[in-house]
Amino acid sequence: MSKHIDIINKYESVVRSYVRNFPTVFTKAKKHKMWDESGKEYLDFFSGAGALNYGHNDDKMKQKLVDYIMEDGITHSLDMASIAKADFIEKFQEVILKPRELDYKMMFPGPTGTNTVESALKLARKVTGRTDIISFTGGFHGMTIGSLSVTGNSMKRQGAGIPLQNTVTMAYDNYVDHDTLVYLERFLEDNGSGVAIPAAMIVETVQGEGGINAARFEWLKKIEEICRRWGILLIIDDVQAGVGRTGTFFSFEAAGIKPDIVCLSKSLSGYGVPLAVTLIKPELDIWKPGEHNGTFRGNNHAFVTATAALDYWEDESFEQSIHEKSEIIYASLQKIVSDYPELKGEVRGRGFMVGIASEVEGLASKVAEKCFAKGLIMETAGPNDEVFKLFPPLTIPKEDLEKGLAIIEESVRDSVKDPVTN
Ligand code: PMP
Repeated sequence: MSKHIDIINKYESVVRSYVRNFPTVFTKAKKHKMWDESGKEYLDFFSGAGALNYGHNDDKMKQKLVDYIMEDGITHSLDMASIAKADFIEKFQEVILKPRELDYKMMFPGPTGTNTVESALKLARKVTGRTDIISFTGGFHGMTIGSLSVTGNSMKRQGAGIPLQNTVTMAYDNYVDHDTLVYLERFLEDNGSGVAIPAAMIVETVQGEGGINAARFEWLKKIEEICRRWGILLIIDDVQAGVGRTGTFFSFEAAGIKPDIVCLSKSLSGYGVPLAVTLIKPELDIWKPGEHNGTFRGNNHAFVTATAALDYWEDESFEQSIHEKSEIIYASLQKIVSDYPELKGEVRGRGFMVGIASEVEGLASKVAEKCFAKGLIMETAGPNDEVFKLFPPLTIPKEDLEKGLAIIEESVRDSVKDPVTN
């Protein structure tokens, strides 16, 4: 066992998790590859849980960041004005929001996903004067108390140690065999339902942690309609599904909806540097100055790389390449499901946010474990880790994508032989 792992095992809290699934010490990473202490090379089909959609250590972003540091550019400044911030805001408006006819004010909360979610919930309550939030089965929104209160996973919820209140869980698309929104609307219409009109609904268009469940576009459109009808704010949590993961910059674009509030983090900085933004329809921007404060709001190094990352979106062929490669992934997963009926598998997801759910207990984790041994990093998702989840960087070249898919196929083949002992 490596000396470095020994130190971590001895002194880091048992709360650590990913090191258990990927028990090695990584030393270097470039684009879609990582290397460990022994020099073993891995294909990265994990992408920092969606924080590295452009791969590791992108040359252009790195150069911009190194130049900025060498010039002693401002690193920390709370939310004082900096050129790095102004440049990012301007480019985000020009490259992302304006072409999509989206008009949002940009709020910088703390730099993590859960920080943007907390700010969204707080603002929705402040704007509407209502207390409750509707969330959905399978939803995951972060580990602080507000975010946990709208998260489905019972193990994560129990970690809160206190009752999680002022939220109501409703059935996500396809949770049951009939239209879940008929049920949701009935709750809102009926004075006897016990469900008050909420401040907001918080939705992931594709549930990342919850098992790669993709809501249909019609379902999302209907959610928007219901929100409009009742004056409920629609929050789209695009922390994981955003920044190109499902094929477009925002995951909700193809559904043709315009959320009131959008949460972004993970791949926003493009370089794995912490950064989050909460996008707010201008009329909802009723904060008092400083009402939602924080020391690490707005991270200048992240602004520098995030600005450089937007170059990808100036080139239309980028989206096209995501679509083309996601078709390769989808076809390969369909083939695995049909070639290995023992997997009892179902392909799930959209774009580069896909996976296979297996009805066989423990099998998805077994596949991920075998992949790791063969040099491919991939995690599982879902309440019982029943889904193995493919999250390669969007920039991965076709040849290496195909190499990775072949490793997954081999790992499935080995795992289904004897799922328990293999
Ligand atoms: N929302 C979603 C949809 C997420 O997937 C995550 C993280 N997996 C979060 C929020 C929380 O992000 P963070 O871990 O950065 O707090």
